[in-house]
Amino acid sequence: MTGRNTLCSLEQPSDATLSTAKTPNQMSDCLMIHAGPRGGYRIDCPACKSARPGCISELPPDFSRPFDFVCACGHPFKVFINIRSHRRKPCRLSGEYTLMHHGRQIDGLCTLLDLSQAGARVEANHLTNIEIGTLLRLIVTLDDASHSRILISGRIRSVVAQLKQVTMGIQFEPLELHSQKMLGFYLL
Ligand SMILES: [Zn+2]
Repeated sequence: MTGRNTLCSLEQPSDATLSTAKTPNQMSDCLMIHAGPRGGYRIDCPACKSARPGCISELPPDFSRPFDFVCACGHPFKVFINIRSHRRKPCRLSGEYTLMHHGRQIDGLCTLLDLSQAGARVEANHLTNIEIGTLLRLIVTLDDASHSRILISGRIRSVVAQLKQVTMGIQFEPLELHSQKMLGFYLL
């Protein structure tokens, strides 16, 4: 399981990886957004940055899965609407992630951009072709006085790729008690 080929060295991509990497336009971005308490949301196009407001009540009943969206600029992407409104705390925390990608374990460093009881936005470099639904394990070092470390498991619900950097929306699986407690204190 830890043979040479099972640990993927995505920190140092080979030339082959780079030459076959898709450009952001070819890659199907998936944007995770959060609906407000009354069901309102805003879709920000990753390409042209224009915003389009909407309301959950206008969507078909199966909206919770990522749905296809085409911006007025012509850029197609997927949108995942998180209807549970949780307060998200902007942050800049270091983390270590582990995920399984086509049967291979990938480890790397990442940065948490925001954090809530239910999820986080995680930025990482040199990750390509991430699949929505993949389980991600995170060890996060909080910037509290004791630099507590918490363990998080979550599913990747959205991926936005820009050059060699990806931002992933993570929806947490139930946390173990200690991590849940530490996170609760941190988010106070
Ligand atoms: Zn656009």
